[in-house]
Amino acid sequence: MYFYFIEKIQIRRISIYMIALFFILGNSSMMALDIVTVEQPECRQILTTPAERVQFPLIQEDKSLIAAMKNKLEGLGGVGLAAPQVNVSKQIIAVYIPDEARLLRDNVNELYPMHVMINPYYEIVVGSAVTHDFEGCYSVSGKSGKVPRYEQIKVSYYDEMGQFHEQIEHGFYARVLQHEIDHIHGLLITDRLTPDCVQGTVDEMMRLRRAELSAEKKVIFDQIMARKAKK
Ligand SMILES: [Zn+2]
Repeated sequence: MYFYFIEKIQIRRISIYMIALFFILGNSSMMALDIVTVEQPECRQILTTPAERVQFPLIQEDKSLIAAMKNKLEGLGGVGLAAPQVNVSKQIIAVYIPDEARLLRDNVNELYPMHVMINPYYEIVVGSAVTHDFEGCYSVSGKSGKVPRYEQIKVSYYDEMGQFHEQIEHGFYARVLQHEIDHIHGLLITDRLTPDCVQGTVDEMMRLRRAELSAEKKVIFDQIMARKAKK
C-alpha cells in the first residue's frame, strides 16, 4: 500500500512537471508578437530610432524572436517584417516573396522562401534608376503611396548561422529590402514619400492601385484582398 501511494504521487508529480515543461517550451518556441504603429504615441520611438545590432552566436531570445517573426509574417500574408515593427529594437528582418507577389507586379524577377537577414545594410548601386511603386506598411495605418526606391542595391547581411553575405539585388526584392532595412534605421515610408509622390490614405491608394490594374489582374487583386481580410 505504501509503495503504491509513493508511486502514484511520483507519477502525478512527473505529470505536473511534463505539463509545466510543455507550457514553458510552447511559450518560448513561439512568442506572441503584436504589430505596433507609428500612430500609437508610446510606439513612435521604437519605429523612428535605429535598432540595436545583433551579436553572434544568437542567444535563445533572438532565435525565438526570429521564429515568431517568420510565423507572424506568414500569418499576415506580407512580404517583409522588421523587428521594430513588433516592438523589438533589434536589427532583424524577415522577408518572403511568394508566388502571389508575382501575380500583381511586373518586376518580381524571382521568388524567395521565408528567410531572415540580421544586421542588414544596403547601399545604392551607382547609376541605379529610381522607380515609384505602391507600398503599404503595417506600422503606418494612416498613409500609403508610390514610394521612390532604387532599382538596384548592394545588400549585406548575416544569416542565422552568422555567415556574412553581400550581393547585388534588383526589382521588387530590392524594393522590399529597402523598405525593411529602412525600418532598421528608424525610417518609414512617410520619410521617403516626397510632396511630388502619389500618396493618400490606405483606402485611397488601394482604390488607385486596383484602378491601374488590367481587368484580369483586378480579379486576382480582389481575391487576394478578400483572403487577407479574412486573416
Ligand atoms: Zn513597413
